[in-house]
Amino acid sequence: MKNLHNIPQKTYTALQKLLSEKKKIVVTTHKNPDGDAMGSALGMYLFLKKLGHDVSIVTPNEYPEFLRWLPSEKEVVKFNTNKNNANDLFQKAEIIFCLDFNNFERLSGMEKSLSDLKKIFVLIDHHPMPKIKTDMMFSVIEVSSTAELIYDVLVNINATKLIDKDIAECLFTGIMTDTGSFSYSCSRPGTFRVVTELLKFGIEIDKIHSLVYNNFSANRMKLLGYCLNNKMKIFPQYRTAYISLSSEELKKYKFKPGDDEGIVNYPLSIKGIIFSGFFIEKKDHVKISFRSKGSFPANKFSTENFQGGGHLNAAGGKSEEKFEECLNRFENLLPKYKKELNN
Ligand code: 5GP
Ligand code: MN
Repeated sequence: MKNLHNIPQKTYTALQKLLSEKKKIVVTTHKNPDGDAMGSALGMYLFLKKLGHDVSIVTPNEYPEFLRWLPSEKEVVKFNTNKNNANDLFQKAEIIFCLDFNNFERLSGMEKSLSDLKKIFVLIDHHPMPKIKTDMMFSVIEVSSTAELIYDVLVNINATKLIDKDIAECLFTGIMTDTGSFSYSCSRPGTFRVVTELLKFGIEIDKIHSLVYNNFSANRMKLLGYCLNNKMKIFPQYRTAYISLSSEELKKYKFKPGDDEGIVNYPLSIKGIIFSGFFIEKKDHVKISFRSKGSFPANKFSTENFQGGGHLNAAGGKSEEKFEECLNRFENLLPKYKKELNN
C-alpha cells in the first residue's frame, strides 16, 4: 500500500534516506501531552531506537498518570523540570521530530529552545493549518490521530517490519484516546485498517482500555460527580452547556494533571446539546476546552474568542482574564453564535 494521504513520494524517500544512517534524534510533542501525543512520541521513539539511532524524548511538561504505563515512558525528559538536560539534547540533536502539534505556541515556553535551532525538523501531525514549516511535513487532517498517521508513514518508508508489540501498544493508545474509544473522528476505513494491522502484534485492547480509562483516583470520580451535579450550566436555547472549576475547587478535590480528562465531553451526552465548554482556573490564566457535535466549529469559536484552535469538534484555548470575567464573556458570546448553534 503506497502513497497514502497525498503526501509526495519524494517526502517519504527523503525521510527514508535521512534515517538510513545513524543520527542523534529528539522526539517531542505538545504541552499537557494527551494519549495521542504520548502514544505517538513513544511509538516513534521506540521505532527510531530499533532502527539504531541515538534517540531521546522530551515533553514540555508532565503527562497524566493514566499514561504512565506506556512502554519506555520512564525515558521521557520533561522540559519544565529538567531544562538543562532538555536543552542539551536539543542542541546536540541532528533531527527533531515534532509530533501531534503544528504550532510552536503549543509548547508552553519550550518553543524558545526550539524555534531558532538549525536542525532538520520532521513534522507528523493531524491538526488543521500548520504554522510550522519544516524540512519534512507529514500533515494530514483526515486521519483520526497522529498515531494513525505514523503507522502509515512507516508503511510508506517500508519500515513496518520493525514494529513490535510495544510500538503497537503506543500507537493503538494514540488512536483509541483521540477517537474517544472509537466514538468520534473514526468514520474512515483507514483508522480500522491501521488498528487491524496493530492487532497482529499481539496487543490486548481490553488491557490497554482498562489501563487508560479505569485508572482514575477516587478524588477524580468525586470531582466528576461534583462537576455534573453542581457546576454544569445549561443553555438550551444555544444548545450549549459548560462546566467550570475554580482553583479553590481544584484544591478541595486534590486535583492532579489528568483528573480533568474527558469531563468536557459529558455535557454533549445531553439530548440537544451540541457545544460544550470546560474552564479551569490556573495560576495566571484560564485553561479552556471546547467540544462540539456535528458542524459547529469548536476550533473557529476558540480562535475567534480564546486565543486557541484545534479540530472542528475538539478545540482548546486560554484567557488571561479573571475567572468570572472569562465565564461571563463566554456566556455573553453565545447569542452571537445562536444561528450557527441551531443549524
Ligand atoms: P484539549 O481540550 O484536550 O486540551 O484540547 C483539544 C484539542 O484542542 C487539542 O487536540 C488541540 O488540537 C487543541 N488545543 C487545545 N489547547 C489549545 C491551544 O491553547 N491552542 C491551540 N491552537 N489549540 C489548542
Ligand atoms: Mn492528536
